[in-house]
Amino acid sequence: MDEVRAPIFHIIHGSFVDGYGIRTTVFLKGCPLKCIWCCNPEGQKFHPELKVSAAKCTGCGNCVSVCPVGAIKLETDAGNVRLDIDRQLCTNCFKCIDVCYTGALDRFGEYYTVDELFAVIKKDEQFYRSSGGGVTIGGGEATCYPEFVLELIKRCKENYIHTAIDTCGFVTSPEGIKALEEADLLLFDVKGIELAAHQRNTGVSNEPILQNLKRLDAIGKPLIIRVPVIPGYTDSEETLNGIAELLGSLKSVERVDIMAVHEFGKVKYAQLGMEYKLNVEPIPPERQERIKALFEAHGLNTQLGG
Ligand code: SF4
Ligand code: SF4
Repeated sequence: MDEVRAPIFHIIHGSFVDGYGIRTTVFLKGCPLKCIWCCNPEGQKFHPELKVSAAKCTGCGNCVSVCPVGAIKLETDAGNVRLDIDRQLCTNCFKCIDVCYTGALDRFGEYYTVDELFAVIKKDEQFYRSSGGGVTIGGGEATCYPEFVLELIKRCKENYIHTAIDTCGFVTSPEGIKALEEADLLLFDVKGIELAAHQRNTGVSNEPILQNLKRLDAIGKPLIIRVPVIPGYTDSEETLNGIAELLGSLKSVERVDIMAVHEFGKVKYAQLGMEYKLNVEPIPPERQERIKALFEAHGLNTQLGG
């Protein structure tokens, strides 16, 4: 039988924001949601993709000659070279990367086996031990690869490494739910209470998310809840009050992280040939403090950022 593999688009060593202590955070590629504010658009598709940094292109033409499907065009515009990739034609064969010496072409995503990924994780073991940290498995949505995640968690447990899954909560397969149950800690996103708004903002219903949240809470799974605050999408008093009220009624929530909107992911939309649709102002610090106080009023240990 083939060894199970999953596409990983990023690994962060020494993270302080993905659970407790110092952590290694791995990001699996592929997500059932398409949040309008997504800051990791390279985590949405379930396969590796071409990453294009057009400003680095010198117009040498190497890539054009190796592309088997004619997806690359170089146009000259007012003396400047413009690199144009037809994403409909591109098959993500990555032949062009090998001949691009400026770094204009690269990839988002590499397949790892559990053995390969665990070897990377194990290198940071001393930091987990000294800080009470561990491994956080995020994405995308890691539970879309339940076999991989379950095997990775098993390997971590055998080595006394703490595990967390960072999940959007939209998990419908029994194996995916088992993966959530097996992790020591869940970082669980709550992006809205009202179904129609949730569907509009993320592309999916929040019913399975809220069902999973309540069930995982009932079995005592330690939860850090992440609440994205996006002006015009998730920041109405009604929405935030509704979320705070729900979380305040649960018993396993250890902390709530208020995640104020930012634009760190904007450049990656251009690198993927995707349209960036968000157009919002940052949330002033005073408003962030007021939102924090709103959650605290429901008895919730709350912090800004995450
Ligand atoms: S990844 Fe392959 S198909 Fe896509 S542009 Fe490069 S060479 Fe062409
Ligand atoms: S190989 Fe790289 S630098 Fe040369 S034209 Fe293609 S993208 Fe530009």
